[in-house]
Amino acid sequence: MDCIFCDIIEGKSEAEILYQNEKIISFLDIRPVNYGHALVIPKKHYENFLSVSVDEFEYLLKAMQFIAAAVKTGVNADGFNLIVNNGKAAGQTIFHFHFHIIPRYSNDFKFKPEFKKYSDGAMKEFANKIRSEINKQKDSFNG
Ligand code: AMP
Ligand code: ZN
Repeated sequence: MDCIFCDIIEGKSEAEILYQNEKIISFLDIRPVNYGHALVIPKKHYENFLSVSVDEFEYLLKAMQFIAAAVKTGVNADGFNLIVNNGKAAGQTIFHFHFHIIPRYSNDFKFKPEFKKYSDGAMKEFANKIRSEINKQKDSFNG
């Protein structure tokens, strides 16, 4: 499989590694939104959030708290964004599941999506579509 993150994990490509252990690795993003922008990645290859194992995800979250705190303090940020892009349409370019930790400063820039407004009844309609999917899957979720 052709995956730059797997190459970094295997030591075949270089990266500015911040931390690693047997399960996860964190390194700096080469195209930072702000300096210190870090990625946190499970060493096992999962394509995206939907395919990552819950056990691995739990562990990754624990590591995220630890690394995000170090990023925030280390670069003296006022805050940070945690972002996961899933699918090309959402901006995913590397199909090995990863979290972005983006340090933020008061007044650096604003993420400005164009917020939509639901027309009459549309909010319920969208909720019904999603609830119908939830109802199909809920037994597997509740175990
Ligand atoms: P995404 O667009 O959410 O899939 O994020 C992939 C991120 O990986 C992008 O922000 C890239 O800048 C970053 N990236 C790609 N190749 C490398 C690399 N060799 N080392 C560090 N970061 C990388
Ligand atoms: Zn990979």
